[in-house]
Amino acid sequence: LEIELKVDFERQLFSGRCKLLVEKLNSKVSHVLLDVLELNIHSITDADGEPVKWELITPEGARANFGKALLVTLPRGKGPFQVNVTYETTEKSTAIQWLTKEQTTGKRQPLCFTQSQAICGRSLLPCQDTPSVKAPFSIQVTVPQPLMAVASGEPSGEPTEADGLRTFTYAQEVPVMSYLIAVVVGEFESREIGRRSRCYAEPEVVEAARKEFTDIVDEFLDTAQKIVGGAKYEWGSYNVAVLPSSFAYGGMENPNCTFMSASLIPGDRSLTPTLAHEIVHSWIGNLVTNAYWKDFWLNEGFTRYIERRILGNINGAAFRGLLLMVGYNDLVKTVDMLNKQGSPGLTRLEPDIDDIDPDDAFSRVPYEKGSLFLLYLEQVVGGEEQMTKYLGSYVERFRGRSIQTSDMKAHFLEFFKGVEKVKEIDWEHWLHGEGLPDFDLTAHVDKTLLEESRSAADRWLTELPEDLAITSMKAQQVMLVLDHLINALADGKELSHNKLAAMNRLYNLSGTRNVEIGFRWCLLGCRSKWTGCLEATEQFLAKHGRGVYVKPLYIALKAFDAARAKAVFLNNRNFYMSVISRQISSILGE
Ligand SMILES: [Zn+2]
Repeated sequence: LEIELKVDFERQLFSGRCKLLVEKLNSKVSHVLLDVLELNIHSITDADGEPVKWELITPEGARANFGKALLVTLPRGKGPFQVNVTYETTEKSTAIQWLTKEQTTGKRQPLCFTQSQAICGRSLLPCQDTPSVKAPFSIQVTVPQPLMAVASGEPSGEPTEADGLRTFTYAQEVPVMSYLIAVVVGEFESREIGRRSRCYAEPEVVEAARKEFTDIVDEFLDTAQKIVGGAKYEWGSYNVAVLPSSFAYGGMENPNCTFMSASLIPGDRSLTPTLAHEIVHSWIGNLVTNAYWKDFWLNEGFTRYIERRILGNINGAAFRGLLLMVGYNDLVKTVDMLNKQGSPGLTRLEPDIDDIDPDDAFSRVPYEKGSLFLLYLEQVVGGEEQMTKYLGSYVERFRGRSIQTSDMKAHFLEFFKGVEKVKEIDWEHWLHGEGLPDFDLTAHVDKTLLEESRSAADRWLTELPEDLAITSMKAQQVMLVLDHLINALADGKELSHNKLAAMNRLYNLSGTRNVEIGFRWCLLGCRSKWTGCLEATEQFLAKHGRGVYVKPLYIALKAFDAARAKAVFLNNRNFYMSVISRQISSILGE
């Protein structure tokens, strides 16, 4: 797959061509079927430049929303055949996010970036847009000077310049899925952050990013590799590009170029677990891949489990226990939200999402329920060391492939066939049960760092503890205090507005630089229907576009003050990525 694109900021589109090289496995095959969404196709030709026959087919029913099928006729014989598509994207392309220069930190140059996971790759280029197909690719991106393009591969030579334009070329030699084809274009500088790593960011942000990530990137890479049983790092470099905080995710594991939201650089390294997470995807997700989006937990649950193993390895078991508890509370909040939304089916680890856009099914369930399942399996098989051996075998067996939940299960049972306790695993309960699994996390984790948060929350529920300082706590402990209070509200307990005002006075929670704390604080305030939180909530929603924050916050704000929720959304709808805007729109009934 060879892609050549020119970025047009004025018209907000990419134009160019992509060249697919296809070979028939069965010579009776007469067509190749590609996915497209909102692309203007100008022509399709063969290797000699001769036009080939093609047509667009709209699928029936709900799937019509997922785009069209591009059916290209292939000649007789086995091939390989070239399919050259000349096309441009449109303003409706869901994969591309455009920021005006005013929306950037430096406010000098516009910026754009792509996000193809889950099924937006088809609005960037015609492709087999499924995680079950992998191919190597190269991408050439032409941008106006002085902008830089960074893409999900290794650079092929130096950029070239002509007529006020610069052209960057990248190659990804490891076969990957369409959702890992990514590019970001902006006024970027880069700094070295590790042995094989650089970070790319706007000049205003690049030093903060360097300080946040330097050295720990190597520590995380080394520790991750140990925990996956020493499996080779396949990708050459590991770089990080810092995206504006409107990014719909915390990070995206684009190979050679993790995209990381600027929201996750608070300046104290308290949110670096996301860096560990994206690094783990170098093996889980990017090498061993979910075959379908129903199997998404194989990407995210495994990754989250290993991410916390890394942090436990570096910072101790008590810290791992803390992260596990924060994650468990995220799962509790998510299950509650999905149930209230009337989507209990999405609380399954392997959900039935055949006719659902995977972006609409996206939640923390595959992450947190998935990693909880692996923690449970760790108890069953006898500990971390056994799991590391298993993970090594898992990566070795499935590297380069796309697999289903049933493949994981079969391999697990084979690997641990001598372990009697494995027979006790209730796979049906874990994989297809709804809601919270039957597993007492607290019985299995180091609770040292948990008690302090629990007792702080209890004190706030029963008194107004002017003497209680939480500033010396770790950020995750503060998150946990707020989680306990949020859960207490859900259980019908009350927290007076007087107490909330006192908390803010004592801890300056409305002014926190930590996005995870800020999110919980605004959620707690809105759910308590406390007007004192409205200004901070509005600022939060204008500054951060990550789905796992803004969706629950809009739901809470709507329940508190529906008119205000709508007004805030109308002010910010162009700031959010289109997948998020669409979902908030439907939450607010716009
Ligand atoms: Zn992930």
